Amino acid sequence: MDEIILLKLGELVLKGLNRRTFEDRLIANARRRLQAHGKFKVYTKQSTMYVEPQDDSCDLDGAWEAMRRLFGVVGLSRARACAKDADIMLATAIEYLGDRLSAARTFKVESRRADKTFPMTSIQLSQYVGGELDEKYPNLKVDVRHPELTVYLEVRDYAAYVHADPEPGAGGLPVGVGGRAVSLLSGGIDSPVASWMIAKRGIALDMVHFFSYPYTSEEAKQKVLDLAKILTPWCGRLTVHVVPFTAIQEELRRRCPEELFTVLMRRFMMRIAEKVAQRCGAGALVTGESLGQVASQTLDAMRATTAVTSLPILRPVVGMDKEEIIRVARRIGTFETSILPYEDCCTVFTPRHPRLHPMPGELEAAEAALDVDGLVAAAVDGIERVRV
Ligand code: ATP
Ligand code: MG
Repeated sequence: MDEIILLKLGELVLKGLNRRTFEDRLIANARRRLQAHGKFKVYTKQSTMYVEPQDDSCDLDGAWEAMRRLFGVVGLSRARACAKDADIMLATAIEYLGDRLSAARTFKVESRRADKTFPMTSIQLSQYVGGELDEKYPNLKVDVRHPELTVYLEVRDYAAYVHADPEPGAGGLPVGVGGRAVSLLSGGIDSPVASWMIAKRGIALDMVHFFSYPYTSEEAKQKVLDLAKILTPWCGRLTVHVVPFTAIQEELRRRCPEELFTVLMRRFMMRIAEKVAQRCGAGALVTGESLGQVASQTLDAMRATTAVTSLPILRPVVGMDKEEIIRVARRIGTFETSILPYEDCCTVFTPRHPRLHPMPGELEAAEAALDVDGLVAAAVDGIERVRV
């Protein structure tokens, strides 16, 4: 109970007018993520969010891990609460930050005083505690410009807090402040990374997965649900809309030129995703497309898929190399699941010679052989929604 978490708010402090909205959203997101770890008090003051356990049953380590994944936070530290007395703050710093004080070569003390009745000024407090620490630790030298370690002392209304330098937070903006998008989640490496990147910019997500049973297995579907689950610490709880896609693929194979199969299939994905977006109030689609990676990721193919929806298609990894995408995938923990060897719906039906540069007219001609609206409506009707 005498340890709390301090979070430094990110870009939202720059947003002037919207600041309240941003903070409210961040607090709501934090509260939801903390529920599993006990009862916490959460509030903001002066660009800092405070997370305070309310009883001894709280799991502060769990809360810390959750807060490290909270978008909208640029830095976070654990702080020890103590009485508002200079000597007690000094003793607390020695006890709480002893290891770091022994390891560092240079340091400084920085104080903030919200409680103006405290008898010392911030500068006096820093000088006093800094001087004492300097004397106690022969390894330490004061360096106010580039200290290895900064000891922060905060005198607030109810208590004082002692903490060291924050560690980097997840960055970005609180999920939800930027509205909602529908993300097309395959079982691959790229789409979980793309989803994460868009969520990071403050967008709440609904996931769509196209499922080609029995060409793809239950395990392949489970893998996608697992990927969505791995994203929830960042994105919040997610709904995965699992779309039955087999009938469309079989119809395409039956009636359309094989070399156009991939891009025609992707046009159906966009149409269906747009319907899902309408239903859940989303204003954009997200894909994990990266230029030049595969046949459907040429400019011409992208134009062909973009043409069937009026929604913007966000492609956050479009300019990234596979290696760069993999680096993010590893960092966010999706990589190991993404490389599990289950087939996905695209690999099953991959044409031998896919057309790299489909012409718009050619695709519409091929689709004339199909009941496009009927196929889309049937697929949408068959959607299974899974909450993860
Ligand atoms: P990923 O690694 O994300 O699977 P990819 O490199 O395999 O991408 P494609 O198979 O061409 O590339 O898919 C491009 C994008 O289309 C994916 O990133 C994803 O957003 C979407 N997509 C592909 N297959 C599916 C699917 N079965 N369900 C939902 N979205 C899909
Ligand atoms: Mg894929």
